[in-house]
Amino acid sequence: MKKIEHIGIAVANAESSIKLFNALFNKEPYKIEKVASEGVNTYFYEMGETKVELLEATKPDSPIAKFISKQREGIHHIAFHVDNIHDELDRLTKEGFQQIGEIKPGADDKLICFLHPKSTNGVLVELCQEASPE
Ligand code: ZN
Repeated sequence: MKKIEHIGIAVANAESSIKLFNALFNKEPYKIEKVASEGVNTYFYEMGETKVELLEATKPDSPIAKFISKQREGIHHIAFHVDNIHDELDRLTKEGFQQIGEIKPGADDKLICFLHPKSTNGVLVELCQEASPE
């Protein structure tokens, strides 16, 4: 893993949270994208080399809706950039880390996969690879 690609923050209401984060960061999201397969709207802020991703559920069975109902709004996951998600996932599962689901397309033109927080000291880890390498 090379760098933090982004930090994902779960929000209950994007409209009010965007106002808050626009004021906090003194800028607006540069990208808004719906990921229908995950049941989320995503809002990306550029923060130098990395990004902040706000995640809002679009349906009640979305992982984000479940997260908010069980815990509260706040940091949901940390995403790390990897060059080859297949190789890295192979390495990590051999180390005993538990993957959640399969590698799939995520927001922002990435291939993604999550590691279960039970196996990562309570941190939901996302692996991110560029979906279309230049
Ligand atoms: Zn993410």
